[in-house]
Amino acid sequence: MSDAYHKLTLETHKLKWEDDLPFSLDSNDIFFQDDALDEIEHVFLEPNLILNRISEDTNLAIGEVGFGFGLNFLSTCKSWVKNSNNGLLTFFSIDHKVPTKIEIKRLFKKFEILSDLEDEFFESFDPIHKGINKFFFSNWNVELILYVGDVIDAIRSLNGGFIMDAWYLDGFDPKANPVMWSNDVLDFIKTHSHKNTTVSTFSAAGFIRRGLTERGFEVKRKKGFKFKRHHLAGTYSQTDQRQVFKKVAVVGSGIAGCSAAYHLAKNGHDVELFEINEKISSGASGNPLAALYPRFNLNELPINTLNLSSFFYADRFFKSLNSEAYYRTGIGFLNHDKRTEKWIEKLKMLNRDDLFVFNDEKNATGYENFKGVIFNHGGYLDPVKINECLIKHKNISVNKKYEFKSFDSTPSSVTLHFQDSKELTFDYLVLAHGAGLINFSNYLALSKGQLAGAKISDSIHMPINSNGYILPLKDGVNWIGSSYENQFQNMNINKNKLQEMVEFQSDQFNLKNPQNEPDSKAQIRVISKDKLPLSGQYKDNKNVFLLGGLGSRGFCYGPILGDHIASLISNNVSPLEKIIADSLEPDRFK
Ligand SMILES: Cc1cc2nc3c(=O)[nH]c(=O)nc-3n(C[C@H](O)[C@H](O)[C@H](O)COP(=O)(O)OP(=O)(O)OC[C@H]3O[C@@H](n4cnc5c(N)ncnc54)[C@H](O)[C@@H]3O)c2cc1C
Repeated sequence: MSDAYHKLTLETHKLKWEDDLPFSLDSNDIFFQDDALDEIEHVFLEPNLILNRISEDTNLAIGEVGFGFGLNFLSTCKSWVKNSNNGLLTFFSIDHKVPTKIEIKRLFKKFEILSDLEDEFFESFDPIHKGINKFFFSNWNVELILYVGDVIDAIRSLNGGFIMDAWYLDGFDPKANPVMWSNDVLDFIKTHSHKNTTVSTFSAAGFIRRGLTERGFEVKRKKGFKFKRHHLAGTYSQTDQRQVFKKVAVVGSGIAGCSAAYHLAKNGHDVELFEINEKISSGASGNPLAALYPRFNLNELPINTLNLSSFFYADRFFKSLNSEAYYRTGIGFLNHDKRTEKWIEKLKMLNRDDLFVFNDEKNATGYENFKGVIFNHGGYLDPVKINECLIKHKNISVNKKYEFKSFDSTPSSVTLHFQDSKELTFDYLVLAHGAGLINFSNYLALSKGQLAGAKISDSIHMPINSNGYILPLKDGVNWIGSSYENQFQNMNINKNKLQEMVEFQSDQFNLKNPQNEPDSKAQIRVISKDKLPLSGQYKDNKNVFLLGGLGSRGFCYGPILGDHIASLISNNVSPLEKIIADSLEPDRFK
């Protein structure tokens, strides 16, 4: 089956519960014991100096091999929240299987001391698919990046360049699970370490000690927990690539620029955002409302893998902002043509009723006799309010009425030239100014699009997709999306198109056409030659990045791609798999 299909198939652990402790039948080993929290403190938190590092009041990046039931993650979060600081904790982990919610609930029951984390954990740890999942625990200032899949696949498919401050090696017993301790894994740990990165494991096996030592770690055998004689802990003593905070300019305050600015600021950089107009988001991201919709085909084309992971990423991300501007209603697709029918048949085979359901017995859509698929995640949003929320961070300053013209770069800096001969110099530049990007790439084209606003139905509760979409009533208007005009002379409203869109939706709801003339908004979409967005380094300039060409899915793509660019600048883990990131390189058309 295809990659997008495969991504939605999840395997759960084969378990036997003994005295409320989970025993893995896959690895023939116990996940944890009654005194697991003390053991985690002894084997992982203390040797990795987690408490000291938290008190440094800065960002912390921890990598882990073996997520298990997430107990190391939760113990670290407990410490992080208790000794709260202003930094961001990035916790990156790999596991080939994930426990079910019911199984994790048993863990919270067993370790009552973690109960204050339970609500936030379940609020944010959803939904899950194979590959890279990013979960935002915004009340704790913690981000969890969980790669679900084989460890060797993870190593091959992650984007290089990220650096961890500490590593927890927590696979099962090396004899039962040798791949978790293989040379490939030890090489991976070394590659993603800086001078002073620490590592620890419950194991004291000689080959692990030798393997880490050969790769530049100073490893010690330490007293083991309780009856175990020893465990290993060490420090990397080679290259010094620790993260340094930079001055970054971002041009354009649409969803692309605001997302990049947000993630850069969270990673500790000083960000200056430049917008040509008096108001932020004055391009396509200034539409009155937008839908967050998950239309991905279940095949192996990169665009579908991107559509799938960016949709779930964006849903978690917007939710984590705790902003009233995201309406997480779910989203319905009417079974209106053969193509959709086939798609729905494939979705049914996945048995993921946590993600989508195929009947509307409770009339959740508000659409009478709905037939199709309802996604439980996604919905619609107020784009300008979302963008305002993204750029509230204290590390971001917003400069309006700055018309960016061009830049010069040297290996260590980049100078921006603005209208009126203003010049400003930064360490990095992110170009995210929508239609303005056609001056920087020959592979982008513009298309005019219109939304039509009319009162059609006050009964629908979520966006309904068929030929285009209709959104729930807001301020007396249902916004209907959207028209496409690839050849256009001006941005005047095309009234015939508006009328067609309104008539189509009215017929669909068996309603009379509204008498009032539809309200409208015409904007520009930017689309690349191969329909994939552009996200990555700009030509040979190592300190200039380009982010755009988001087509008609700006609110799916913007958040994950902004994070990707921030991760390249920050040596952090990218939420994009390498194969996808490569297919978005701005230079790919050469
Ligand atoms: C009619 C229509 C309906 C749509 N519906 C949806 C939808 O429902 N869901 C969805 O996900 N997507 C939708 N889209 C697509 C989405 O709106 C875009 O993909 C997205 O807004 C693009 O974001 P951006 O940040 O790349 O560009 P923009 O939003 O265009 O932002 C670019 C910003 O850069 C500024 N700028 C430009 N030039 C300069 C310069 N020289 N110096 C400084 N600043 C500059 C602009 O003023 C603007 O604020 C729709 C698009 C259209 C046209």
